[in-house]
Amino acid sequence: MPFVITEPCINTKSGDCFQVCPVDCIHPRKDEAEFANVPQLYIDPATCINCGACAAVCPVQAIFPEEDVPDKWKQYIQTNAAHYQK
Ligand code: SF4
Ligand code: SF4
Repeated sequence: MPFVITEPCINTKSGDCFQVCPVDCIHPRKDEAEFANVPQLYIDPATCINCGACAAVCPVQAIFPEEDVPDKWKQYIQTNAAHYQK
């Protein structure tokens, strides 16, 4: 099960998570043009290896394993995946 970025990232976008991801599956990074235009960052569920490194460094506890996403934020499972389905 991949990890998922949820609501607390919105308007936070601290950028800590992608710096520690070993497989570069969190986008957009701050050095990508799209960064300024997105409300939050997203994890590619097809690439995430479920290491948990991102969740450990998030200052606002926005990142959860998919099975542990709180009910009120379940829609973010699809929001993260949809970012990579364009
Ligand atoms: S570390 Fe948390 S708040 Fe910062 S960009 Fe990643 S998910 Fe968003
Ligand atoms: S759990 Fe690991 S592989 Fe998945 S997004 Fe976070 S840092 Fe990257």
